[in-house]
Amino acid sequence: MSAMREIVQSPYRPLGTTSVSTGASALTRTGSSPAVRVANVISFDVEEHDRIEAAVGLPCSPELKANYAARMEAATRRLLDQLAAAKVTATFYIVGEIARNHPKLVRDIFAAGHEIGSHSWDHRRIHQFTPASFREDLRKSKDVLEQTIGATVFGFRAPTFSLMRETWWAIDALAECGFEYDSSIFPVRHDRYGLPTAPRVPFVAQGREREILELPPLTYRVAGMNLPVAGGGYFRLFPLAVMRAGLRQAARSEVPQVGMLYFHPWEFDPDQPKLPLGRLARWRTYVGVGRTTDRLAQLLGEFRFRRAIDTVRELRANSDDLPRFQVDATDAASV
Ligand SMILES: [Zn+2]
Repeated sequence: MSAMREIVQSPYRPLGTTSVSTGASALTRTGSSPAVRVANVISFDVEEHDRIEAAVGLPCSPELKANYAARMEAATRRLLDQLAAAKVTATFYIVGEIARNHPKLVRDIFAAGHEIGSHSWDHRRIHQFTPASFREDLRKSKDVLEQTIGATVFGFRAPTFSLMRETWWAIDALAECGFEYDSSIFPVRHDRYGLPTAPRVPFVAQGREREILELPPLTYRVAGMNLPVAGGGYFRLFPLAVMRAGLRQAARSEVPQVGMLYFHPWEFDPDQPKLPLGRLARWRTYVGVGRTTDRLAQLLGEFRFRRAIDTVRELRANSDDLPRFQVDATDAASV
C-alpha cells in the first residue's frame, strides 16, 4: 500500500473526454467483501504461430505460413466453443492483418459477445517504431478491426508486452489514437519485457502529454518479487496452483486488482508443426502445450472472468484513487 502511495502524484483527472455510463459498481473498495473487489479478465492474443517473437528472422515457407494461419483460425474457434460452454466472455487482442485475412473469424468472435482489441498491425515490438510510425500502425490496426466488426475498438496489447521504460513515448500515441485503455505493461523482471517498478494494480500511465488507463497482467507477489503468473510459461510449465495463488492473492488485495490472464490460440494446438527454434526457445515455446485445454477448463470452472472493457468502465467511473505512474523522463528514450 505504501509503495502505491509513493507514485500517486495528483488527484485523478478524468481520462480523455468520452463519458462512459455505468450502472452500480461492483468494484468497490476497502470494506467490501473480497469477492467483489477483484475482476478477473481472460484475454487472448491472436496471432499466427510464425509471428511469435522467438520466430523473428526464422525462415518460414509460404506453405507453412498458410498452415499456421489455418491452425490459428481452428484453434481460436475451439476456444470460442470452450468459452461458450463455460458461458464466459473474454477479450481478444487481434493482429490487424488477421482482420484482413480472416474477417469472418473476427466477426464471429465479436458476435459471440467477446471484446475485440488491437494487437498491432503485424506484431512488431514497439521498439521497432518511431512515435510517428507507431501511430500509423495503431490507426491501421484499429481501423481494420473497427471496419470488420462495425464497432469501436477500445483496448490495445503490445506484442511481447513491449511497452517498457525505453518505449514509454507509446503512452501518448495510444491516447492520441483514441484507445481507452492499454494492457501492455508487465510489472516484472524478464529478459524480453517488463517494467518492474510499475504498479501491479490498474493505474493511470502518464505520458509526456497524455495518459491512459493500464490493466497490468496478473503478478503474484512472493519473496519480494513479482512473478508473472498471468499466462505463458508459468501457465504451461508450473502447477496450476501457482496461477490460482496469484488469482487468490489478487482477490485479497486491499486496492482493486485485476486478475488479467493472457493466452494465445497456438498454445492450445499441441499438434501444430514445430518451428525450427534453438533449444531454449523451443523448450519455452512448447513446454506444456498438451495440457492447456484442460487447465483452461479448470480455471473457467473455478473463477469468474469477464471482458477487459467491463472492468475498464467500472474503473473509469470509480477511478479518483487509482495510482498514477510515469517513468522518469530522463530515463525514457525519446526517438
Ligand atoms: Zn502476440
